Amino acid sequence: MKEIILVKIGEIVLKGLNRRQFEGKLMKNIKKTLKPLGSFSIKNVQSTISIVPEDDSIDLDEACERVSRVFGIVTYSRAAQCPEKTLESIIETATEYLSDQLKEAKTFKVESRRSDKRFPYKSPEISRETGAAILRKYNHLKVDVHNPDLVVTVEVRDYNAYVRGKALKGAGGIPVGTGGKAVILISGGIDSPVAAYMMAKRGVRLVAVHFASPPYTSERAEQKVVKLLKKVSLYSGDMEMYTVPFTEIQETIRKKCPEDYFTLIMRRLMMKIAERIARKEDCKALITGESLGQVASQTISALGCTDEAANLPVFRPLIGMDKQEIVDISYKIDTYETSIEPYEDCCTVFTPKHPRTNPILERVIEAEELGGFEPMIEKALNNLKVTYINTKED
Ligand code: ATP
Ligand code: MG
Repeated sequence: MKEIILVKIGEIVLKGLNRRQFEGKLMKNIKKTLKPLGSFSIKNVQSTISIVPEDDSIDLDEACERVSRVFGIVTYSRAAQCPEKTLESIIETATEYLSDQLKEAKTFKVESRRSDKRFPYKSPEISRETGAAILRKYNHLKVDVHNPDLVVTVEVRDYNAYVRGKALKGAGGIPVGTGGKAVILISGGIDSPVAAYMMAKRGVRLVAVHFASPPYTSERAEQKVVKLLKKVSLYSGDMEMYTVPFTEIQETIRKKCPEDYFTLIMRRLMMKIAERIARKEDCKALITGESLGQVASQTISALGCTDEAANLPVFRPLIGMDKQEIVDISYKIDTYETSIEPYEDCCTVFTPKHPRTNPILERVIEAEELGGFEPMIEKALNNLKVTYINTKED
């Protein structure tokens, strides 16, 4: 039986031009994610997108997986195309195709839509006849028009009739690409991949920046970040990853700056470098995985000192979340197992014994000036490595 996917669009409170842009981007993102699977006809009619595979060998399970990760979709469902556009064929398709769902449900109703007004039965008749046939075949079922376990939907369109059952929850959010571009500062930890996912969900296209300090951090630590970003890219789409050589800067911090400011100065320098990459890439904000009070560098005063280093808005989508809430999302997006692989991060290489939790900005700036970092920042920016992260799974 030929199956298609039907998609309902989210947050349509957006009006006018915004809405056209929203729907246009969503169509583009769906096309892009499905392209490797084969050829589809994808159409948007009145905020329902129909995705029709154009050859029989296409893997519809995989197509559904991919659609389930596209932001901007509230619900989606699989639907069967009835072999003929007749009431008999509709009834037969509904009773066969939905048999698993019908066996599981206790109550149901049938809803019909007829956009082809030449079809000889009106919507209430289609619903009544299909419902009666379902009741004859599945005699444990009862009709409940108000709160049924299962809604069987029949759609009679210009060329074909379709039958579908339960709608599945989509990824929500708004389409990636409608919210501008931002730099995600990505480590190999649990938090920053979740932060990346959350901002992509709000429509932001990502550029990743990772700081590496070889030989203190290994090639495998960097590969772990690539692996994490590949998982994120299943939601956010392709992105560039810049690896910044950070060893000289970190060694200089250790040599020239007071120990209790190590972490804070390091974080400020990360922000400065990330900002310069952001400006070059036309990114309008920086994103981090920080959460208030999680560690010494994430107190209100410490975050204030970090923010002062960059002249772009800093988004911290995890700021008010507990660790467990963050971990739950990392399971959902399948980054958790990779994040806990034990590779060192440059943040953990030189950690002070007694970091300041209540730093004073003027003191931090004075301490930072002792390092004379500007030429080192320039040098690091001239030696960036670029890796292209795409959704191809390997
Ligand atoms: P994460 O789990 O994301 O590493 P964390 O709670 O361990 O976060 P920190 O290690 O203090 O916190 O880092 C705070 C934030 O700084 C991270 O969420 C990330 O955005 C950024 N960051 C830390 N290390 C790096 C790195 N090596 N490269 C790029 N960004 C980093
Ligand atoms: Mg970390």
